[in-house]
Amino acid sequence: MTETASADESAVAKAQRELEAAGVRSVIGTVVNASGITLAKSVPLVRLKAFHQAGMGAAPVWHVFAIDGGIAFTDTITTVGDMRLKIGLAGLRILPGGRAWAPGSLFEQDGTASPACARGILADVDGSLLEAGYEALVGHELEFFLVAPDGSALETTPWVPYGATGLLDQSAFLDDLLSTLNHAGIPMEQIHAEYGRNQFEFSLPPASPVHAADTVVLSKVIVGIVARAHGMQASFSPLPFPGTVGNGAHQHLSLHKNGLPLFSGGSGPHGIRAEGGAAIGGIIAGLPDIQGFLTGSVLSGTRLTPGTWSGAYLCWGLENREASVRFLSEGQSNPHGANVEVKIIDPSANVYLASASILALALDGISGGRRLPEEIPGDPGRLSEGERQRANVLLLSDSPAAIIDTLDKSRLARGLLGDAAVDATVAVRRYEQRISADLAPDELAERFRLAWSV
Ligand code: GLU
Ligand code: MG
Repeated sequence: MTETASADESAVAKAQRELEAAGVRSVIGTVVNASGITLAKSVPLVRLKAFHQAGMGAAPVWHVFAIDGGIAFTDTITTVGDMRLKIGLAGLRILPGGRAWAPGSLFEQDGTASPACARGILADVDGSLLEAGYEALVGHELEFFLVAPDGSALETTPWVPYGATGLLDQSAFLDDLLSTLNHAGIPMEQIHAEYGRNQFEFSLPPASPVHAADTVVLSKVIVGIVARAHGMQASFSPLPFPGTVGNGAHQHLSLHKNGLPLFSGGSGPHGIRAEGGAAIGGIIAGLPDIQGFLTGSVLSGTRLTPGTWSGAYLCWGLENREASVRFLSEGQSNPHGANVEVKIIDPSANVYLASASILALALDGISGGRRLPEEIPGDPGRLSEGERQRANVLLLSDSPAAIIDTLDKSRLARGLLGDAAVDATVAVRRYEQRISADLAPDELAERFRLAWSV
């Protein structure tokens, strides 16, 4: 046995002992596929070693399971073949009910990474950033609507957007959520009642990209567990109820080089350094190409209405909530330091691919020496069409077909994340468009209200 193999053996044995002492009987390993849905396998604790080393079988169609339970076969993803779902020990966390959870990655049978494995793709992008000397941190926000177990709206008292009312009405759920997150080692930063009726949002602190995305997946699992315990479900649909605000899945990014932040301490606007400006320039220039990874589902477009803070305008601006890239500057009111918030993302996206595509665009912008585009300080919706054109502010597409056609044809997206991720995403999203073609907006929202719930 090699030294590495024997270190791994003892790491497995140690993890197993600790989990057993904590009362864990089974381990769930999850992956998120191209539809943005969370798939899982689970093993009794005694099989921890097998789950970690050899992995559990997963058919290649796992990549393209669709939101209605169907399969979006492609020329290369068919019924033939098998992959292995392996869990990382470092990510093991304890859930209620004698269970533990760990993030999973998908491998081919020969041990190489599956080219469409979203977690592997994000790890590769982060590796390229680190190799180029940049350390990325990502901070996620999670928005969801509490609904009845069948997905229908809860019967409740009047709702006050951002009010204390919602915090009191749902205090038992929120208290249980906080303690379950704590128990799993997730440091929730804050939680509030959102604009939508029975909509809540909590935020997570910045962390390295893969770890941060893993924590989002675990958080969704925990929201699902706690909501069930309180006789409810949580909807992570981009637009659970048409006619009102949707759910965003905003991501805050910061980059450091040699310990110095790229978004502060420089001579550009708000202290942005030249490389930070190039990163923002790269994100804005490439965002339409990768929009299919951020807002690609059949319900994503309906959320992108100006005036709903979903960041539908392609531009950036300091604290601008209508800009797809909101800038937060450094200062005493911002303990995490300057960062950019990509607001356009919604929770039907695969969180790993969303981070991977944005970070890859940032690196592409830096490598290409892009310039920071002109800042848009106010709400672009208050400008006339002509003023927006002169300021070069586009309204991002809200058409699922156009967003996915652009992704499919994008050499940039294919170059950054690879054909496998693009092809799987295009396949599942076109499948969604086909099965929804005859549905009215209300029917569409209702049918898929729980599609991204865990
Ligand atoms: N719910 C809004 C969205 O769809 C975001 C509201 C906020 O800025 O927190 O993205
Ligand atoms: Mg919010």
